[in-house]
Amino acid sequence: MGRTKKVGPSGSLGPRYGTSVRKRYAAIIRERKGKRACPICAHAKVKRLSVGIWTCRKCGHTFAGGAYSPITKLGSIARRAALASSSREEIESELTGPIRSVSELIADLGSKKGTKA
Ligand SMILES: [Zn+2]
Repeated sequence: MGRTKKVGPSGSLGPRYGTSVRKRYAAIIRERKGKRACPICAHAKVKRLSVGIWTCRKCGHTFAGGAYSPITKLGSIARRAALASSSREEIESELTGPIRSVSELIADLGSKKGTKA
């Protein structure tokens, strides 16, 4: 495939779907694939596992975040509200508690999907 001069990630869509849709798509894909620092080890190795689930490829930390970005404005507001309403030690012990393995997390997601359907 040739190089895309200005369309970026929406180059895979070709000439289809209209220019504004392709621009929005490209913006979202750039947001999702951009390098983000891990909240635990600070390495820029955060990758999306599934919608809202992000993992660090350096230290294995898996956490919840936005659909297209590991940290959202709304998420940080909710986090601040939670910290304010409950004791700081309680939240911090929860955040640094045993990190579940990715396969465990995926198995859990699978069973939740199964019960919904
Ligand atoms: Zn990390």
